[in-house]
Amino acid sequence: MDPNDAPLASGLYLVATPIGNLGDITLRALDVLRRCDRIACEDTRQTQKLLNHFEIQTPTVSCHQHNERQRATELLDALKAGARIALVSDAGMPGISDPGAWLAAAAIAAQVHVIPIPGPNAALSALIASGFPTAEFHFLGFLPEKAGARRTRLEELAAEAQRSASPRTLIFYEAPHRILGTLADLESVWGPDLRVVLARELTKIHEEFLRTSVAEVRRALALRDRIRGEITLLVEAPPKASAQPGAAQAHQPAEKVSVRIARMQSDLRIDEKEALKRLARELGQSKSDLYRELQRQRARR
Ligand code: SAM
Repeated sequence: MDPNDAPLASGLYLVATPIGNLGDITLRALDVLRRCDRIACEDTRQTQKLLNHFEIQTPTVSCHQHNERQRATELLDALKAGARIALVSDAGMPGISDPGAWLAAAAIAAQVHVIPIPGPNAALSALIASGFPTAEFHFLGFLPEKAGARRTRLEELAAEAQRSASPRTLIFYEAPHRILGTLADLESVWGPDLRVVLARELTKIHEEFLRTSVAEVRRALALRDRIRGEITLLVEAPPKASAQPGAAQAHQPAEKVSVRIARMQSDLRIDEKEALKRLARELGQSKSDLYRELQRQRARR
């Protein structure tokens, strides 16, 4: 008998959904979403688009970062009474840099059956097409948003990588408006030759992989008018024996803003205002802070 002909068993179904391409939904995900009693969603409006596309009429309820714990009580009561509940995030696997892990743990503690329905995930999709070692990798989700905390975290990771005998593949999720700042920090911690893979818009029309050094990726992105789309970033963190020469410069003072602005103006044939805008984006700083720094440097001459 086809397992899909059997009645859907009671339990919490953690259902992966597409990260861009609707064709990536699995047959099993569709079956569970159709036959469960309720779908708990990170954002009901987002999931409704998916359900409309596949003509699924199952009722939805919200379950997001801010109400996961309150909602859990209600969902667990229903699950203990024999309900079949699917949990989805906006895209990809619930629980992976998305709500879901807490509810799964609470359900397990309440002796509710928890069933994974595998499918798309940005980190693993980027990893398998990166060309980096896949036997061991370290998924870190999003780095801290604040520049200081992010830099500290990267320094900790560099120290950990130096204790291992072989290169380590690190995987990060990053927002487009923070990517230049993160690349600048990676370059200052590990040096310009650090090998990275930037995977953008996976499974979508404009899917793109940049597989080169961190300095090259940063330069390529900085030249764009706007950086759009969803980004997964992989880093091949070198072990001690192959520490990069650039890394030694990590704690030397950064090149002067005035020098960088002048070089950008001459390399890219742009005016000072445009150069300031691009450099601010590249460094993850505000234009006004950078302008003040430029004025300070000029006054010191
Ligand atoms: N749960 C999701 C998963 O399983 O991949 C991840 C959710 S997390 C809130 C969203 C982040 O994942 C994005 O900011 C981006 O860093 C990464 N991401 C999601 N979709 C992506 C895509 N199509 N291409 C590249 N990265 C993606």
